[in-house]
Amino acid sequence: MKPISFIFFCYLSFSLAVATEDNLRDRDFSAENWAQTCEDWDLWDKPGPPFKLFGNTYYVGTCGISSILITSSAGHVLIDSGTRLGARVVIENIKKLGFDPLDIKVLLHSHEHHDHVGGLDYIKTSTGARLFTSQGALGAISSGTPSQQDPQYGMLKVMEPVEVDGIIEEGQHVKLGMLELNPLVTPGHTPGALSWQWRSCELNKCAVFVYADSLSPVSSEVYRFSDFKNYLSAYRTSIEKISTLECDILIAPHPSAAKLRARIESQQSLIGKDGCGNYANHLNQRLARRLEKENKEEPN
Ligand SMILES: [Zn+2]
Repeated sequence: MKPISFIFFCYLSFSLAVATEDNLRDRDFSAENWAQTCEDWDLWDKPGPPFKLFGNTYYVGTCGISSILITSSAGHVLIDSGTRLGARVVIENIKKLGFDPLDIKVLLHSHEHHDHVGGLDYIKTSTGARLFTSQGALGAISSGTPSQQDPQYGMLKVMEPVEVDGIIEEGQHVKLGMLELNPLVTPGHTPGALSWQWRSCELNKCAVFVYADSLSPVSSEVYRFSDFKNYLSAYRTSIEKISTLECDILIAPHPSAAKLRARIESQQSLIGKDGCGNYANHLNQRLARRLEKENKEEPN
């Protein structure tokens, strides 16, 4: 073989090998592949492969923002869209898993910030699904304009307005075919935040999922949680609610808040009874530190 054609042959076999490896990775829908592709607290719009969490529940979000697909023969439920750009990744991930985005019938949310719901307009337009929001998130999601009651008001991005089809009330389960989701009104990080609880089964085993909202005390520089007693008390109730839930698999809108990568990499099952309790303890500590700081800064 002449040197030039030998080099060409080597190059060809190398690129074929790389292509095959890439193709394999592209079709690897294991949690491990997601954990290897994504970093902790990764970028909001960075594509990451979709994977099954358990039973009929799938992670279809980006590397940095969760989006959860729960499937049934009567149609699917999607919680959170990611950002406007991230929503494209979500739709592609749903297709990669072999599901038809047109089968999404119900859209739900965690909290009304653009990193989690900024893509709802895109997803609603491309699927025709009905969108349900909490009363507290209705204004921000339908108008695209952040609420003035939001602790982060003034530093939040405006979103594409989207038509809302109905209001979620605590105690009123969302039902679609065999699917049944329990909404939990959990204000704190935002006024309209929701958490979700549902059951998924695989073979003869079932697990209770909790998609717990962020509930982190983040705000603009001028906002003080201690100035809003009612809001603060509702916030505390939200954390308490999460801590007492039946909860086998905890997931959160920012996957790293529930240590998703670390749990996958530890090779242990995602099922663990302490998830919600530990999550709530950590949030209580954060809130206490925040209030202590506000207290110290209080003008005499
Ligand atoms: Zn967020």
